[in-house]
Amino acid sequence: MECFRLEHPADRLILCDHSDCEEIADYLELQEGGREDLFCAAHTSSQKHVSVLPSRSAVAPKGASSAQGKTVIEDPGLRRDL
Ligand SMILES: [Zn+2]
Repeated sequence: MECFRLEHPADRLILCDHSDCEEIADYLELQEGGREDLFCAAHTSSQKHVSVLPSRSAVAPKGASSAQGKTVIEDPGLRRDL
């Protein structure tokens, strides 16, 4: 499981996925298998504060809303200057 900082789109708030929780979600947890869960600070299992987590879009953007072409993420493991 990997944790990321959830960036909120300007036009809406994203709430915690925890049942009966209506806090704003700040954490995105990427589960095994690719499922994404969004949690508030109280419900995340992240050991790190959201301020030190990388944002999801910086790692692998998933354009659910807009399709502006593919973003290619370079794997640093494939680019090794010998
Ligand atoms: Zn919550």
